[in-house]
Amino acid sequence: MSSHPTSAKSVVPAHGDAIRIVPLYESGGTPTVEAAKAAPPVAPHLTYRNGPMLTAVEVFTIFWGAAWQQGTNAALVTHVNQFFDFILTSPLIDQLAEYSVPGKSIGHGRHAGTLTLTSPTPRHTVTDSAIQHMLQHEISINSALPQPTPNTLYFVYLPPGVRVVQGGSASCQAFCGYHSDISGQIFYAAMPYPGCSGCTGGLSPAEALTSTSSHELCEAITDPIPGQAWYDDHNGEIGDICAWKTKKVGAFTVQLEWSNQANKCI
Ligand SMILES: [Zn+2]
Repeated sequence: MSSHPTSAKSVVPAHGDAIRIVPLYESGGTPTVEAAKAAPPVAPHLTYRNGPMLTAVEVFTIFWGAAWQQGTNAALVTHVNQFFDFILTSPLIDQLAEYSVPGKSIGHGRHAGTLTLTSPTPRHTVTDSAIQHMLQHEISINSALPQPTPNTLYFVYLPPGVRVVQGGSASCQAFCGYHSDISGQIFYAAMPYPGCSGCTGGLSPAEALTSTSSHELCEAITDPIPGQAWYDDHNGEIGDICAWKTKKVGAFTVQLEWSNQANKCI
């Protein structure tokens, strides 16, 4: 999107919209065009571009659609919420401390709450602008949603069968999730249901969803306005460099994140 204000001090992401996505998983063999584009042509090293960070992130989860109230979907809602209850005070957040800068110390976050939004019903294809519209609308009329603060991060989960379209590409065709901002004021991540092999990466839907959620969480903390905080012009944000490399933190599957200090995915 072109809504990110630029100034002399900020740098526009060289790769445009695509760089903040979780790319599709490609098992073995030839990388997809997308994966090849995402593969580091230059050794990764993130630099800080003076933008804001979510130093004490407040995550609010929104499960959009009545389908989330049924059967295995409802179990997934519980799982994702338990993931945020745990992960925001876990070693996954501790490892981001290396990206603290003077005046902005990255610390633990909080799972501020959750909501299953049954009305309006999401369409079969949901565009990024529809997600932004829903968020702004619900924030203005729905007291169940917290008002945005500089630390608020809304995670929007779409139910099975709903395709998300952003930047001219679609979930399960080009991406498995992304994070963005609305005018630098509202920070959010859009998480389509992992209903294809490209977005499960050999994991269960529950594991895939916590993996991609951790990717977007860590990126949104360190670069909430994409390209304006910790960023690498060649390789993107900290999660992009390590896409689909996973580990367990507690009981949950998370993605590795790039460490400048360790010079590898950790
Ligand atoms: Zn990313």
